[in-house]
Amino acid sequence: MIVIMRHNAQDEEIEAVLVKLEKNGFQIHLSRGVERTIIGAIGEKTRMGIAGLEAMPGVENVVPILQPYKLASRVFHDEGTVIRVGGQEIGGDTVQVMAGPCAVESREQLLATAIAVKEAGATILRGGAFKPRTSPYSFQGLEIEGLKLLAEVRKVTGLLIVTEVMDTKTLPLVAEYTDILQIGARNMQNYFLLREAAKVDKPVLLKRAPSATVEEWLMAAEYIMAGGNYNVILCERGIRCFESYTRNTLDLTAVPAVKYLSHLPVIVDPSHAIGKWRFVRPMARAAVAAGADGLLVEVHPNPSEALCDGPQSLTPDNFAAMMSELKQIAAVMGRKIS
Ligand code: PEP
Ligand code: MN
Repeated sequence: MIVIMRHNAQDEEIEAVLVKLEKNGFQIHLSRGVERTIIGAIGEKTRMGIAGLEAMPGVENVVPILQPYKLASRVFHDEGTVIRVGGQEIGGDTVQVMAGPCAVESREQLLATAIAVKEAGATILRGGAFKPRTSPYSFQGLEIEGLKLLAEVRKVTGLLIVTEVMDTKTLPLVAEYTDILQIGARNMQNYFLLREAAKVDKPVLLKRAPSATVEEWLMAAEYIMAGGNYNVILCERGIRCFESYTRNTLDLTAVPAVKYLSHLPVIVDPSHAIGKWRFVRPMARAAVAAGADGLLVEVHPNPSEALCDGPQSLTPDNFAAMMSELKQIAAVMGRKIS
């Protein structure tokens, strides 16, 4: 439930409510706004009546949260969350574009891509160092060498970094290098990993699993938030259905739906959703028009030579053309791109 305190509630009144909730076994999440304090009280079952709380001095209103996700719910946080990372905002006026190769392959490849995507207006460099590949025989990533290259290229270009963490064992290492931790589609319901990511003081980009409902996806975000990390960016990357012409099916309805249900920023990855580079641009345009807070796009200087996901990677020229279209669409939406 949410306990909304009156705008002039005294500190002692807030404290008394917290003590009562804690005594009743609730986990407390306090949000002290400029206007008023809101207390999120999370428990498996309602152990105490709302009436008793409403009678307490300083309490304005008590609202039950009916959805199974609480902290991720818009009921808990009426305004959209803006995540601040390295001087950039995700969920604010700017549509943030994260771009780069599927996998970090070499210094030359990463640097060339980073320079090109930055020039076109991207603010965050993506690149996998640990790759979740369907086949054990495919390129698995440069691992620590890949992380070092990402850090080096960040230094040269000033771009922030987002890279995937695949397990709890390598989490401390990845967290040391990256600005944003990516949890991939295959790991969306790896609850041990979600719990550990909750302890890291870095935003988490949580991809939707290909067969997850919106509710399951928000419950995965709830794990991270319940563990104390409120900086979760949701990423729609296509879901599985009967269609096989495209790699997955981009569920663009998830953008307005999640924005309605949750306060968390939502971005779209058209590359993994579609799997074919020629459809990435139109769906990126549609994502910005649908209200996405950002995009995650694969770009490779030479897609035909890519060690991973070449068929869905844009060339730098195509990426630049996409960005100039997106700038116009963002402007219509009252937003900007870098
Ligand atoms: C990726 O972004 O590199 C990736 C593997 O994507 P997904 O987890 O969405 O398949
Ligand atoms: Mn990829």
